[in-house]
Amino acid sequence: MADLDRSIHPDIHEIDDVDVLIGQIVASCGCLTKTPEPKYHSTDCRYRHLVHRLEELRHTNVRL
Ligand SMILES: [Zn+2]
Repeated sequence: MADLDRSIHPDIHEIDDVDVLIGQIVASCGCLTKTPEPKYHSTDCRYRHLVHRLEELRHTNVRL
């Protein structure tokens, strides 16, 4: 009944999606920096930009 649980708790489902998305965007790194810390990545690295966007979304979700 996992699908039913997710439909009852859409917020938890959203958080799961964000965690999956973070795992995927680590692979989007274009500067070959092998760390999850965005500050170590090049300023034009796609991964770094995606992490900043995700942090904004997460803070917004916490306030809700
Ligand atoms: Zn990078």
